[in-house]
Amino acid sequence: MSHNYIVGFPRIGEQRELKKALELYWANKTDFKAVEEVASTLKARHWHYQKEAGIDFIASNDFSYYDSVLDTAVMLGAIPARFQGLENEALYFSMARGNKDAVAMEMTKWFNTNYHYIVPELSLEDSYALNAKKIIEEYKEAKALGITTKINLIGPITFLGLSKRIDRGDTYELFGKILPVYEALLTEIAKLDETITLQIDEPIFVKGVEPRVLSLIKPCYDALCTVSDNINIIVTTYFEHSNEATKVLVHTPVWGIGLDFLYGEKNVASLELIHKSGKKLVAGVVDGRNIWKNNIAKTATLLENIAQKVAKEHIIVSSSCSLLHTPFTLKYEEKMDAEIKNWLSYAVEKLDEVALVSKVFFGVSLNDAEQKALQANETANKERQNSQRIHNTTVQNRVSSFTKVARDGKFEERIKLQREQLGYKDLATTTIGSFPQTPEVRKARADFKKGNISAEAYETEMKNYIDDCIAFQEACGLEVLVHGEPERNDMVEYFGEQLDGYGFSQNGWVQSYGSRCVKPPFIYGDISRPKPMTVEWMTYAQSKTDKIMKGMLTGPVTILNWSFVRDDMARGDVSKQIAVALSDEIDDLQKAGIKMIQVDEAAFKEGYPLRTENIEDYESWAVRDFKISVSTAQKETQIHTHMCYSEFNDIIRTIEAMDADVISIETARSGNKLLKIFKEVGYKQEVGPGIYDIHSPRIPSVEEMVEQIKLLLEVLPKEQLWINPDCGLKTRKYEEVKPSLINMVKAVEIVREGL
Ligand code: GLN
Ligand code: ZN
Repeated sequence: MSHNYIVGFPRIGEQRELKKALELYWANKTDFKAVEEVASTLKARHWHYQKEAGIDFIASNDFSYYDSVLDTAVMLGAIPARFQGLENEALYFSMARGNKDAVAMEMTKWFNTNYHYIVPELSLEDSYALNAKKIIEEYKEAKALGITTKINLIGPITFLGLSKRIDRGDTYELFGKILPVYEALLTEIAKLDETITLQIDEPIFVKGVEPRVLSLIKPCYDALCTVSDNINIIVTTYFEHSNEATKVLVHTPVWGIGLDFLYGEKNVASLELIHKSGKKLVAGVVDGRNIWKNNIAKTATLLENIAQKVAKEHIIVSSSCSLLHTPFTLKYEEKMDAEIKNWLSYAVEKLDEVALVSKVFFGVSLNDAEQKALQANETANKERQNSQRIHNTTVQNRVSSFTKVARDGKFEERIKLQREQLGYKDLATTTIGSFPQTPEVRKARADFKKGNISAEAYETEMKNYIDDCIAFQEACGLEVLVHGEPERNDMVEYFGEQLDGYGFSQNGWVQSYGSRCVKPPFIYGDISRPKPMTVEWMTYAQSKTDKIMKGMLTGPVTILNWSFVRDDMARGDVSKQIAVALSDEIDDLQKAGIKMIQVDEAAFKEGYPLRTENIEDYESWAVRDFKISVSTAQKETQIHTHMCYSEFNDIIRTIEAMDADVISIETARSGNKLLKIFKEVGYKQEVGPGIYDIHSPRIPSVEEMVEQIKLLLEVLPKEQLWINPDCGLKTRKYEEVKPSLINMVKAVEIVREGL
């Protein structure tokens, strides 16, 4: 009897082996065979980790050279016309990354994670045909190693839900074309073994699907289940509850249903139905998207509660989602504080947790090592709960009694004072904060971190950069300057490093997209600011120019959303602590003479909940905490914010409620279309719609920027507009930035003359 289960395992490699192999291949330094060899080693290693941990259901086809949604598109033969004629890896990587003749397919966020998938492009004219090679070969590859896997697959309804139609139509209209390809696939899969377990991921169900989508579930799974009776299908969802879909699935012949009981607590409402249906329940109870050690005793209790409704013999203990969203192993965390390290668990450690908790739950007798592990788990959890490093009563008292949740003065009053004092013109020019990160600056930061250069040498290097950056901006004719952020490696890490309550890993890499990984810092305790974080750099920069120097901070919601967050406190309470720390920083900046401060909220929108029913709660604390962070700003101090996207239609009132004096946004690629909502709702505050796309090396001409500004002026009056690029410039080169900014300033002059 099989009792435990892993939804999926990360694939990039514990030393990012796949990343390195892919990048060498892309740079033409190796052939694809070299990548395939690395891939085989990784797959074998990951299967063995799971086998050795005692996992019963181990996945195949959770590996990918780039992305699983892209793999699914290839499996279905959903190849956009511009890639026709290409084959195999040339085709695959062209779809993912583009080639000299064809632009890459779009990429977007996988639900509310920081993983990005490739968006399939579908068309009613296309026909689809099965390519089962990868799935079949991966199963055989594991089998040859003595491991029988369950096969992972992205489900047809989720695939359609995440795709786009090139003619903008409804992707679900293609259901009738796609389903037969899945049926053909299952026919092939059925031949592989006597019995096969197939995990079909349908995370789209957690978004509270509409009736017309719900109506596809029964025909879809009735059809797939009748392909062959040797396939046991488990339909899996994660990140939220999927009660609406479960209600339908229990009336199909699927063998099991996989649910997330951590991020979808409300799934318990479906337990009775599942019990009546006699189906297996894959119960996601070990956190697949955070880094904290599981509390085995608590998880066993959660499982016991589930077992009140569903018979034990039908329960399979599982990770809450694929472990793709956690780093690999604590093995390489050599520098981490031992106490804190003992609170953590990465993917490899989570395998042992799933195995152990399933033994405890099913009453399997534990051997000595397991007894010890259980004991150690209890101790670690107790120590974490009681640690002095987590609880800071001074912070708690201050934050709970923090009542100043808004700035003084209404916007109209503030902006009048600000414009008098700051004296900037209509259509004022500025940038979003960072300037190109030169090799010298990166080297100086790295050398300083390693202790290879002194603090003085480092400071000199940074100041030189700031001097040059200011001189450069003055030469370009920009009106509101920035210091260029040379001291920041990352907009969250930089602040995390200076806040108490934050931890960092050495090797906590998580795949973000393709070969790209991020290493999010983690919040383990109450957050406070021991000393000012940016004041010295800002005052230095301001001393070097007579123009306005804009201070630069990352906002509380973005800091939260790009970190692993402690699981013993509500997210909104953690965010409030960060906000209070930032409010002190703003107070210090303004006391030091900084008159304009930007608080970036690049990740404000991506923090939105998956289900509309939870939006109100998120917005209430997210807006509150942005406002708390700027609450210390006097009326005369101008607060800017920046957000890296342009679709504000759904959230415009929320953005307005944040009450920043100026917001800069990313609208460069859509003319003035997306700006219209600001006019429609009578938005009063000032707006800087990015007028050129910094994500491309292309240098925009004066003429096109003049046109772009004129388009903006059709929507909003000149008094309300700022002119800037659409995001920070750190990924660009000075050779690209210089002509672009000079052209931007020229364009503004031309437009101003014409007014
Ligand atoms: N101030 C940051 C920068 O310019 C903002 C980055 C971002 O929006 N992602 O780099
Ligand atoms: Zn941005």
